[in-house]
Amino acid sequence: TTAAPEDAVPTGPKVKAPALVYISGEEMTHYATQLLLKEWIEPHFDTSSWETYDLSCKSRDETSDQVLHDAVEAGKRVGAIFKEPTITPSAVQVQEMGLKQAWGSPNGAMRKGWNGITISRDTIHIEGIELGYKNQVLFERHAVGGEYGAGWDEVGQGTLLTTYIPQDGGAPFVVDKRDLTDKHNVCVVYHNPYDNVRELAKIFFERCLEHQVTPYIVTKKTVFKWQEGFWATMKKVFDDEYKDEFLKQGLLDRSGGDLQHLISDAATMQLIRWTDGGFGMAAHNYDGDMLTDQIAQVHRSPGFITSNLVGRNDDGSYIKEFEASHGTVTDLWLDHLAGKETSLNPLGLVEALLGAMSHAARLELDEKPNDKNVQEMHAFVDNFQSTLRTALHNTFRYGQGTRDMCGPTGFTTEDFIAKVAWRLNR
Ligand code: NAD
Repeated sequence: TTAAPEDAVPTGPKVKAPALVYISGEEMTHYATQLLLKEWIEPHFDTSSWETYDLSCKSRDETSDQVLHDAVEAGKRVGAIFKEPTITPSAVQVQEMGLKQAWGSPNGAMRKGWNGITISRDTIHIEGIELGYKNQVLFERHAVGGEYGAGWDEVGQGTLLTTYIPQDGGAPFVVDKRDLTDKHNVCVVYHNPYDNVRELAKIFFERCLEHQVTPYIVTKKTVFKWQEGFWATMKKVFDDEYKDEFLKQGLLDRSGGDLQHLISDAATMQLIRWTDGGFGMAAHNYDGDMLTDQIAQVHRSPGFITSNLVGRNDDGSYIKEFEASHGTVTDLWLDHLAGKETSLNPLGLVEALLGAMSHAARLELDEKPNDKNVQEMHAFVDNFQSTLRTALHNTFRYGQGTRDMCGPTGFTTEDFIAKVAWRLNR
């Protein structure tokens, strides 16, 4: 007998996949994810315990967004979520799709509903293939606050007053008063909730240690003075709990033996220069949004970046949502609809799906540590993950990757999925 190749899943009865919340989206990424589910996952798993919520614009419109509320509730209950990219409809899309209103960002609702701490975004690597960064780059983006939750209005001349009213009945005071002398102004008020920055710090430093990279904290605190608190909390957690360990492991050699602060504009330059990788950055919400898109470009394609939301349940347990860092890839969807060939890189999508399945298996094992079936399921998910990863990476290594990686001779969306399926299901 010949041993099965390292990138084939041993044949056997289907394993009952651990319960997770599956959020389905639209366009090219919906099409590709459904295809890879059918060809890679379903031959090996019974996915009947997955709860699916359709967050396409049409479904949100038909349910007046009840489906989004239900998805957020389900996520709280189950704790492990996979999300396909979704469309946050623009004014034009509201017209085109005939929607009742411009439904808000589902990601915003989830980050709030699950007490989001951080959105972790990391580079994906394929051994033997050089992408943008040689070694891993980690990113921790504060999941709440800032411009995303801003209140604003357009106003004329006058005075703008921002007053704080303490909850404990203390005397109200004016945070800011300004005279508006222009006839046309836009005024914006936002805040950064800082209660969970300690937790963000711990998640970040733990991950930097695990992946052996040097941590940096990014803000624009030199000019945006209110951002000092973010750095101060990060630095305190680092000094109190992590510095010794980082020093011992030699991970501060490149940053002068201490945790280094980077001004956000300097960080944009370093991201282009530090192509050896081997570093991590933590930043506020909006800076994190921009900087991680830059990382995606340097690292060849948005298909090579992960995006995991970590939140906290009321009982203290972690809620984890896993998605690709990119959108619905509208341009390829339009090509697909026009009958043209497309080449979508599914790596970010599938890393997200594997992440969600792995977290779901972990949660089930935590709940029933002595149940033999659960132990076996957990071990199978673990093995399946590494086998699928090997099959994917081998496909790239043999020059059968998607076109963002291999250029015009690369495989189409469908051929790539079929090739990986052939490796897995031999
Ligand atoms: P996008 O990420 O979908 O695409 C940007 C560019 O990168 C396109 O040229 C696309 O072809 C390419 N690209 C992205 N991922 C790729 C992959 N895996 N393989 C190959 N090429 C890839 O961003 P966009 O075009 O600005 O947005 C399209 C839609 O996605 C919008 O409606 C937006 O609202 C939505 N969106 C959703 C999310 C989310 O759900 N998290 C995030 C961003 C954008």
